[in-house]
Amino acid sequence: MLQYHLMTIKNLVDEYKFIGEFLNHHWPLKSANQRVFARTMKIVEELGELADEILTSMNLQRKSKLAKFTQENVEDEFADVMASLLLLAIELDIDVEKVMKKKIAYTKDRFEIEEKDDL
Ligand SMILES: [Mg+2]
Repeated sequence: MLQYHLMTIKNLVDEYKFIGEFLNHHWPLKSANQRVFARTMKIVEELGELADEILTSMNLQRKSKLAKFTQENVEDEFADVMASLLLLAIELDIDVEKVMKKKIAYTKDRFEIEEKDDL
């Protein structure tokens, strides 16, 4: 069970650093390049699974029990994609919080979106 109530990006990355170390220990690869390649292919695999779930959900009636089940599957596959991206970021030594702050600032500037005072 997680020991915190508010999950920050740092908490999230720290959790996946721990998980990544476990994966690297139990399924070791010879080089950093091989780990980066494996992590990248995992993103592609998980993205395919998310796309498949979304396509399935579009073919189902809303409000049905099946649709609810599919929403859970979509959420689960979304989490897999996010997890696989975080594992790649860790392998590439990317500071997720820093690069996302930079990207948000760039996107707001590009589309002239007003800054929120509370950020
Ligand atoms: Mg998946």
